[in-house]
Amino acid sequence: MDSARQPAEIGFGLQAFARPPGAPRLPRIARGEGVWLIDTEGNRYLDASSGPVASNLGHGHPRILAAMEAQARKAVFAYPSQFESEANLEFAERLGRLAGPGLDRAFIVSGGSEAVESAIKFARQHAVVIGQGSRWKVIGRQPGYHGNTLGALAVSGDEHAHEIFGPMMRAVPRVPAPLSYRLPPNHTVESHARACAAALEEAILREGPETVLAFIMEPVGGLATGALVAPDSYYEAVRQICTRHGIKLIFDEVMSGAGRTGRFLAADHWPSARPDIAVLAKGLSAGYAPLGAALVSAEMVGTVAAAGGFMHGFTYNAHVMGCAVGAAVLREVEEADLAGNSARMGALLRQRLEALAAHNPLLGDVRGLGLLLAVELVADQNSRQMIPLEKVAPSRVQQIALRHGLALYCRRTSRGAYGDWLMLSPPLTITAEEVGILATRLGAVLDDYANELRS
Ligand code: PLP
Repeated sequence: MDSARQPAEIGFGLQAFARPPGAPRLPRIARGEGVWLIDTEGNRYLDASSGPVASNLGHGHPRILAAMEAQARKAVFAYPSQFESEANLEFAERLGRLAGPGLDRAFIVSGGSEAVESAIKFARQHAVVIGQGSRWKVIGRQPGYHGNTLGALAVSGDEHAHEIFGPMMRAVPRVPAPLSYRLPPNHTVESHARACAAALEEAILREGPETVLAFIMEPVGGLATGALVAPDSYYEAVRQICTRHGIKLIFDEVMSGAGRTGRFLAADHWPSARPDIAVLAKGLSAGYAPLGAALVSAEMVGTVAAAGGFMHGFTYNAHVMGCAVGAAVLREVEEADLAGNSARMGALLRQRLEALAAHNPLLGDVRGLGLLLAVELVADQNSRQMIPLEKVAPSRVQQIALRHGLALYCRRTSRGAYGDWLMLSPPLTITAEEVGILATRLGAVLDDYANELRS
């Protein structure tokens, strides 16, 4: 392939997102080693975000590569309604054991959006089977993100996507996410979170509880909220509200699951607010294969199975290679105690980010849990004002970061309606020394960006 040509010029199929004309060239990946990505010119970038919070085990992990090779020599694909596979059995067993009671049955798919669709459809079919066919509405949060297929997007709180695709989706009720940095007047973080939980109950009563199927939320936010964590009381309140009205609570753990927040599931931080359904992807295969799963209870599966089985499926359900990768990743998560490392390295990285915020006026807020962290960029720390739209361009921060050997993941969300943040979510395998390198480089990036904003 002509190395001077950009994928966007070659075909839409190669570049999922059309890049605007004049956008700077991206480095071309040659290989990866641990937390490092190396381009074809030999430049090394520390992967500060695990791509889109996916590469939880870093790059070129020898045991995952060995498992892939071994599986490739056996069988890559066998359709699960025709054949069982050891890879599927091992993956499902490990996943069920790590996720724990009530979430120990997995419907295995190829990614997060498919897993969200599967969770919603399973909840719906379960409701029909138990005689609650009037329940179909899924309440989501604003802002929030659950995927880009039309069903998953419908329950996502993303105004920009809804402006474009709204007419093609069934409108669902949305309630405010308990954002913690810019609060409505006369609110504390706690009182705002209480109001957001109360808004859920109001929405349910307004819609008619007998019509509401589920409430979906990210227990620790991803890109849509910049690693938002609510006060403990919020989780307990939404659990109680859902239970009171017979509504399924779905935790979207596509980013927060698989050890990312310091526990296997983010849900494990709030045992008294256990969801009925959890959705995983990304870190579940650590980016080594397209993989996702909707987790539910054995009891719900039994009920649906007794009525003829889940009316749903994809060609790549329980894909053999995907399951082999998932099993190898989960083996590694357990044996190397990656959730523990995430908690330890997350605490260290957070300290370093807070130290940066103390002398860098661009850093307004540091938040998150474990190694699912974000820093919010502001024009002014006191007023918490956002950087003016024409100046912000987190993509500019991304470009500066590349110069400093740092790969960042960031977005101005909803065209600036909520704020601007950078995700700091390196592989869970990161060492203390690498955390130090990440923080030092990020400091240099923000200094350069601050100079640009001043000039
Ligand atoms: N849910 C959350 C919380 C996500 O962050 C994402 C992707 O970023 C998805 C769902 C969709 O996952 P996928 O891109 O694998 O379809």
